[in-house]
Amino acid sequence: VEPLLSVSDLKVHYPIRGGLFGRPVGYVKAVDGIDISIAPGESVALVGESGCGKSTLGAAILGMTRPTAGEIRFDGKPVIHGEASRARNLSRDIQIVFQDPASALNPKLSIGESIAEPLAIHGVGTAAERKTRVEELLGLVGLHAGHATRKPNAFSGGQRQRIVIARALALNPKLLILDEPVSALDVSIRSQILNLLLDLQKHFGLSYLFISHDLSVVRHFADRVAVMYLGHIVETGATQDVFANPVHPYTEALLSAVPLPDPMAQRTRRRIILKGDLPSPANPPKGCKFVTRCPLAQSVCHERQPELRRVAHAHASACHLRA
Ligand code: SF4
Ligand code: MG
Repeated sequence: VEPLLSVSDLKVHYPIRGGLFGRPVGYVKAVDGIDISIAPGESVALVGESGCGKSTLGAAILGMTRPTAGEIRFDGKPVIHGEASRARNLSRDIQIVFQDPASALNPKLSIGESIAEPLAIHGVGTAAERKTRVEELLGLVGLHAGHATRKPNAFSGGQRQRIVIARALALNPKLLILDEPVSALDVSIRSQILNLLLDLQKHFGLSYLFISHDLSVVRHFADRVAVMYLGHIVETGATQDVFANPVHPYTEALLSAVPLPDPMAQRTRRRIILKGDLPSPANPPKGCKFVTRCPLAQSVCHERQPELRRVAHAHASACHLRA
């Protein structure tokens, strides 16, 4: 199958100003050579700590951040970047759902007006047709059509995220970028929202790029997972393979923090605590980007950056010692 989205050797480097006449004194390599593809109907999770570049990658796919190098193709066409193309790229086919539903909805608009906004912007339908579409969308996300006239503050956090999802679906997109869609929600309602997203995916054949700092959230959600560290993908594979056989020491450490369903297994499991913080992306270490925190680091790791190499069918990792 032809991928719906394909990202090839993508780089997004931001200049650090501050030199004479505003010349750059360096670059933040937020995304530094990433390949990723998503098939129609597939969900891919991009997992990493805050600052690893995952949201920058999402912004580049939306056409909102201009890449320094590389290519993004969507539905067979290159994604065009910059203001003039923003409306076009953001048009129907790619939509985003952000973490915080409170700030994503205008408190002065009724939720019906918010959901109808993308339709109005793109001149879709008459006012009456948009009203019908809003009612249909509310039903799809499990909310009462009669609530369309209420303001966002009448709803709980989980309901507001349903409203944001309804708006994201208004134009029948093919790909949703879900940027930490449940991180701001109570733990008790996260699975409701994840199940809703899974139902909608089945119903509409949607593709998802699920951005998360939390591996446990993607376990039963994503078909494939890509683990990111300082602008690079360090491990990628089918979600079940990565969970069953993590190869990269960073993935291993992230997974060791995920609670196991079996209490016996949980008791005997060794928690890997990473030393130190994520280094500044403005000043990454030489060689392997994980070298400052890796419990296995050898001298070669300080010298050369490991390439992503295949370790099993469709499972790849970037580590000198583990491949
Ligand atoms: Fe650790 Fe070296 Fe592998 Fe990097 S290449 S993850 S530092 S062992
Ligand atoms: Mg982010």
